[in-house]
Amino acid sequence: MEMSIDAKECPMCGERMRLVPREVVDRIPGTPKTTTTRYQEWLCPECDYFEESEGTEG
Ligand SMILES: [Zn+2]
Repeated sequence: MEMSIDAKECPMCGERMRLVPREVVDRIPGTPKTTTTRYQEWLCPECDYFEESEGTEG
């Protein structure tokens, strides 16, 4: 299991970015079912720049 806890700097303003969990819910066409995709995203609290984290897996 790999963990990446290194801080990442915002390329826009140099502020330290935060890794935040995200959830995207998609409805499957023709069914009442939904799928939830979870991933993590780097978010800059200073300028709202964000970037998808590596290693996303559904
Ligand atoms: Zn920034």
